[in-house]
Amino acid sequence: MQYQNDLLQSSVPPEQKKNNYVNHLIIGLVCAILATASYAFFSAKPTPSTPTEIALTIPDITTNIEQPIKLPDSTNTTFEASSLPLETSSTPSMQSLSTIWQEHKIKPGESLSVIFSKNKLSKSDLHKIVHANDISPQFAAIRAGKSLMIGLNITGELSHLTYKKSPYEELKATRLEDGNFSVELSLKEIERRINSASAVIHSSLFVDGIDAGLSNQTIMQLADIFAWDIDFALDIRENDQFSVLYESLYINGKSIGTGNILAAEFINQGRSTKAIRYKDPTGKVSYYTPKGNSMRKAFIRTPIPFARVSSRFNLKRKHPVLNRIRAHKGVDYAARTGTPIKATGDGKIVFRGKQRGYGNVVIIQHGQRYSTLYAHMSKFRKGQRTSTHVKQGNVIGYVGQTGLASGPHLHYEFRINGRHRNPLTVSLPNSNPIQKKYKTAFLKEAKPLLSQLESLNKTQLVQKSQ
Ligand SMILES: [Zn+2]
Repeated sequence: MQYQNDLLQSSVPPEQKKNNYVNHLIIGLVCAILATASYAFFSAKPTPSTPTEIALTIPDITTNIEQPIKLPDSTNTTFEASSLPLETSSTPSMQSLSTIWQEHKIKPGESLSVIFSKNKLSKSDLHKIVHANDISPQFAAIRAGKSLMIGLNITGELSHLTYKKSPYEELKATRLEDGNFSVELSLKEIERRINSASAVIHSSLFVDGIDAGLSNQTIMQLADIFAWDIDFALDIRENDQFSVLYESLYINGKSIGTGNILAAEFINQGRSTKAIRYKDPTGKVSYYTPKGNSMRKAFIRTPIPFARVSSRFNLKRKHPVLNRIRAHKGVDYAARTGTPIKATGDGKIVFRGKQRGYGNVVIIQHGQRYSTLYAHMSKFRKGQRTSTHVKQGNVIGYVGQTGLASGPHLHYEFRINGRHRNPLTVSLPNSNPIQKKYKTAFLKEAKPLLSQLESLNKTQLVQKSQ
């Protein structure tokens, strides 16, 4: 309910309130519509605290959103002015003036026909609406939990029926003079504003991110973007810092949540990593370094995100169970039995079975040179076998303590041309850089974003030294 909070928190100067009050008087009766408009006006203030808004808006039509955005669902709130159907015209017709609206919350299993009988609406109107045109059958796909707004005219006859498919799509049936219905799907334009935030880490990315005004969703995106470079469980230190430019989405000035991260910088133990979002002309979206290399690497650093390393790569380690010097050619991650283990790169399972001290083992071959090994699993992922192709991040099995293990953990090995390398420090190959033909366009887009990050960084440094 992020935007609800925004509504509550936005402070409005008294003059503005007064002006709006006057407006209310002038326009008079249509208070529901006005309320929608004035809410929109008041709520233009972005999220509180640190994020500062940059005067740049990118109008975009909703259908261009590539990522599913977690949007606040307004349909489960009680009936309020802002959930009334959109009314774009400021001079409403007599018809909508005399419309009596009622909300019907759709319950599981309720069809449109059931809803019509429950509300004592005419079956013939239902038939007319559903068969009005190509769009109208969408009324049959209403979902439980959402609401239908039913508009009746003075005689109690159905005059409007609207269904908010999403915060930016509304299906609307309107009775015509001949008694038939017109049905249209209206798309609202999403306004994208660019916000920025930066912070110094004192406890964790999550806590300091929230303090800097970021949403959970933006923090998760940030962690995903840097997942190939930073292990957020192991590598984070006090005084690390980050800066991020991200989109805030608005409809009619009302916040509906956050969109994409456009650029970000993370300074981890003095080492800066920058990422810039770029959408190429074919629509492919990815994050790149300022030079146009992919942020995405052929391998993620760790098969169990956020797990604690219990034993490092060490060629002279004393084995905890055998109690004699035996090289530890991998990294151990302590985790509860049953914790999912992810393939660190795309590849093919070349071994899946028992291996003496390793217990249940999966070995994945990644191209010609690389292979990874995962040991002591309690069980394997169902539906996979030797020769199954897996993608980076696919679960391949679960933590256990089969074989020689003093407690539940994952033993993970990384090999290049058959040689064991330290998974925590080995330099990982990049995956695809930006295509040559798009590089110039990318650099041009990246430039202003990078200078924004630069100035955020400076501000942060000044704050730090104070
Ligand atoms: Zn081990």
